[in-house]
Amino acid sequence: VLEGLRNAVTKFLKGGSTYKDSVEEFIKDLQRELIKSDVNIKLVKELSENIKKKALEEEPPSGISRKEWFIKIVYDELSNLFGGDTTPDVEPKKIPWIILLVGVQGSGKTTTAGKLASFYVKKGYKVGLVAADTYRPGAYEQLKMLSNLSGAMFYGDQNNNKAEEISINGVEYFKNKNADIIIIDTAGRHGYGNEKSLLDEMRNISNKVKPDEVILVLDSSIGQKAFDLAKQFHETTPIGSIIVTKLDGTAKGGGVLSAIAATGARVKFIGTGEKIDELELFNPSKFVSRLLGLGDLDALLEKIKSVQDNINIEKLQEDLAKGKITMRTLYAQLKSLRKMGPFSKILQMLPTSSLPVQIKNEQLKIGEEKVDKWLHIIESMTYEELDNPDIIDRKRMRRIAIGSGTSIEDVKDLIVYYKNLKAIMKRIKRDRGILKKLGMQN
Ligand code: GDP
Ligand code: MG
Repeated sequence: VLEGLRNAVTKFLKGGSTYKDSVEEFIKDLQRELIKSDVNIKLVKELSENIKKKALEEEPPSGISRKEWFIKIVYDELSNLFGGDTTPDVEPKKIPWIILLVGVQGSGKTTTAGKLASFYVKKGYKVGLVAADTYRPGAYEQLKMLSNLSGAMFYGDQNNNKAEEISINGVEYFKNKNADIIIIDTAGRHGYGNEKSLLDEMRNISNKVKPDEVILVLDSSIGQKAFDLAKQFHETTPIGSIIVTKLDGTAKGGGVLSAIAATGARVKFIGTGEKIDELELFNPSKFVSRLLGLGDLDALLEKIKSVQDNINIEKLQEDLAKGKITMRTLYAQLKSLRKMGPFSKILQMLPTSSLPVQIKNEQLKIGEEKVDKWLHIIESMTYEELDNPDIIDRKRMRRIAIGSGTSIEDVKDLIVYYKNLKAIMKRIKRDRGILKKLGMQN
């Protein structure tokens, strides 16, 4: 998808023309590539105008060249085109988490059911697959085979031809088996163009089965047509997300992904092959950095980020001085740890460090090798856990450990560290309050 963009970036960075000419030339290349990959013309126009305007108006921060800054602008705008800078949240919000897969025949529902099962089994969840496609001959066998392959449990009933009944029975069956995640594979006999009957049927099953999440499976080759379907789907179900399949075999992927983003619906995963592990979390900005060519861009973004990190540190110090700390604060700190030194050092830089607060440095020292581990651990937390780490109990610890490929002990370590830090912050805040009252500090 959009490989030509990479060449355009290289040409832009290495080319010898003036800045203005290079920008013009790059934008032309960009437009050509986006249209080739089926991105809507109106979107392409808007995007080029935004990029051009920013490129000629914005001044890069010191230490960054204009050309480098330009690539960053392109990267940001493209990321927005594909849905912005968000990592999809794929953790179950309750147990069991019931997922209903819908989509027209041949879009890749059954294959995706198997891939999802495998994804969640690997994360340590108990997964059940329900075969509720009563139309396609062989659908039962196909899903059964995938459940074996993924290590998920299977439920089906070849003597029943009512999809809703099978779904309801399947959910009951897996609840008794203590499944964490239940995935229901449906039929969807309708071709593209019959969006209404597809959505009607989805609503029917949904009303009876009461899933926690409905996932629309879309074949990437339908390109711009995805817009209508995604839009109606997005408006019909507030608990919906989208998986785009077959992004391995088409040049039109940019079209379908940008079309969906334009509806406000979210793509959670993309399918990149027929095999059970060919499913990727869809992160728009990661996707774009791949399009633009990882090697160059990664180093560049890293450089820009390190310039920006220096700015964020002020904000971080502010938060710390206020005694505000969550896993997000800690994450930001861990990220810049190698440059900045440990928390204890930052604390010394705070105005509050002159306060009579006894901080034991050992409490806050982190070994280098721990940093990466802890970053992975925090990345595996849900938003709720990030903002309110106190809710992390032993069960959640286990899930986080599995999700991040670490041990419960590692997760515990991090949480103890967090708690120490929080206690110290509280003390700083309190001491400062006392000083203020005594008129010793303003
Ligand atoms: P369903 O009718 O919606 O259940 O679709 P299936 O899961 O049976 O898939 C239809 C065809 O698409 C099968 O041949 C799959 O192997 C193929 N398929 C599904 N997902 C992908 C994908 O991400 N990439 C490729 N290349 N093929 C896929
Ligand atoms: Mg199927």
